Amino acid sequence: MKSTGVVTGIIANLVTVEVTGHVSQNEICYIDLDGTKLMAEVIKVTGKNAFVQVYESTRGLKKGHTVEFEGHMLEVMLGPGLLSSSYDGLQNNLETMEGVFLKRGEYTSPLDHDKKWEFTPVAAVGDKVTAAEWLGEVKEGWLPHKIMVPFSFKGEYTVKSITAKGEYKIDETMAVLVDTAGEEHIVTMVQKWPVKVAIGGFVEKPRPYKIMETGVRCIDTFNPIAEGGTGFIPGPFGCGKTVLQHAIAKQGDAEVIVMAACGERANEVVEIFTEFPELVDPHTGRKLMERTTIICNTSNMPVAAREASVYTAMTICEYYRAMGLKALLLADSTSRWAQALREMSNRLEELPGADAFPVDLSAIISNFYARAGIVKLKNGQTGSVTVIGTVSPAGGNLKEPVTESTKKAARCFYGLAQIRADKKRYPAVDPIDSYSKYLEYDEIIDYLRERVDKDWVEKVNRAKNIVRKGKEVSEQINILGDDGVPISYHEQFWKSELIDFIILQQDAFDKIDSLTSIDRQEYMLTLVLRVCDAQFQFESFEDCNKLYKELINIMKQMNYSEFKSEQFNKYLEQLNKILSNDK
Ligand code: ADP
Ligand code: MG
Repeated sequence: MKSTGVVTGIIANLVTVEVTGHVSQNEICYIDLDGTKLMAEVIKVTGKNAFVQVYESTRGLKKGHTVEFEGHMLEVMLGPGLLSSSYDGLQNNLETMEGVFLKRGEYTSPLDHDKKWEFTPVAAVGDKVTAAEWLGEVKEGWLPHKIMVPFSFKGEYTVKSITAKGEYKIDETMAVLVDTAGEEHIVTMVQKWPVKVAIGGFVEKPRPYKIMETGVRCIDTFNPIAEGGTGFIPGPFGCGKTVLQHAIAKQGDAEVIVMAACGERANEVVEIFTEFPELVDPHTGRKLMERTTIICNTSNMPVAAREASVYTAMTICEYYRAMGLKALLLADSTSRWAQALREMSNRLEELPGADAFPVDLSAIISNFYARAGIVKLKNGQTGSVTVIGTVSPAGGNLKEPVTESTKKAARCFYGLAQIRADKKRYPAVDPIDSYSKYLEYDEIIDYLRERVDKDWVEKVNRAKNIVRKGKEVSEQINILGDDGVPISYHEQFWKSELIDFIILQQDAFDKIDSLTSIDRQEYMLTLVLRVCDAQFQFESFEDCNKLYKELINIMKQMNYSEFKSEQFNKYLEQLNKILSNDK
């Protein structure tokens, strides 16, 4: 008994439909364009009329075309085979079709229905189970992929039968569950879930209490992100947002990576398809793609599909979190997503908010980031979704609505500074404006003291102060000239440069420099601070010059493009020598 309707009006991708029967907000429908079925989503209902946003071009659509409503929201298909797949925002498999673009009205299955998976049961007949509890397991690459009680199952069920160990296709019956009313329910390896609703089924979502190591020093040392935490990278075009995200994807301490390449230009999306599958996982030596799902949309894809993509990505992450895994969602760039929201809201002629974005932009962004988190599952294990989004503010203006709204929602801020990118000081994360609110959490501070060093937080604060002070004195030196300031100013400036060159700058393309373990980060910071703490007490400007020259020499050698770890070790040796001579 599906509701039906007739097209009565068309404005670009927004179509008005006169409905017979019930229709609900966000429900999916198909418009029949002379045999081609165009997928659409209900975004407004008034009286007998539904406003639907079509996920593809409406070229050729006419008044009078018929519409069939599906009775459910936009869903993703969840099951083994998600990893190493590439999808568009509607989860069309991008590998099974020619080129990156689907033909109109064509939808491909997200998962391979013929592939067999080795299933091992973990539940037993008679077990009492509820939604999200584990019934069995298949190996997806090297990860244990749990076959769970579907998230949509409400109440308690008894396992009536469970399939024996063996190889099966995803649509075969893996278990039969009986509900309290005695009705039987079949569970296969696949389930569906509406993308805009967070997947539950866990016991609690505590505050984040440990950090997710990324191997990127300006993050881990200066402003760490928590496992299950949220962060964002705003920055003008070409400042290194994508490079930084790829570094985090490659090195971050996560098991499942979901990359949402959201509405970026087509050539950048092609980049992700050519580059990402080649990346090697430094943790296992295998292809990174084996544990990655790519969701991609380009700006020329329809607006509603672009809007959906970040939710599709989030839902896949939550699915793996429910298996007790660490998932990492990287969205690049969320500005394109916000632009899609803006286009839709404008077409609906809603009262616009700042810069014509929807009035509830902040709430939409907050709700999205709020789906991140570390959770305790019913069996006591933990799983997590960590989210890092990029924002590309027009003209680098950090006061625009998307940046401001994201700032309220995400707890880490990694602002890329044009001036640092211009000087090739990569990653161009501004050490002074950036922050991690997790450093205010007692749980995180305790974790860092235990994991890294008992004085770690103090050391980091000292380093940050030196960098801040260095910026102040360099402004003074610029105004008053080299000779116009006390010699101690120069000493302070060079000490801050030392931290910049050794700790903050990091070549993402150097085999050794790109990935720094947290233990090595501790070693580096301790050494640098020892130099910074030394009082050189130069008598004259000349004296001071000696050290500058020494430093400049070493820094030249350390030019980011030639930076090699041997040089780095040499650098440390020389610094140590300077130190011991001084004593
Ligand atoms: P965005 O995504 O912000 O437009 P990209 O991430 O594409 O910028 O970076 C632009 C360029 O900057 C890269 O092609 C690279 O040459 C350089 N770059 C950025 N970050 C680094 C880094 N950490 N190490 C070395 N080069 C970098
Ligand atoms: Mg980019």
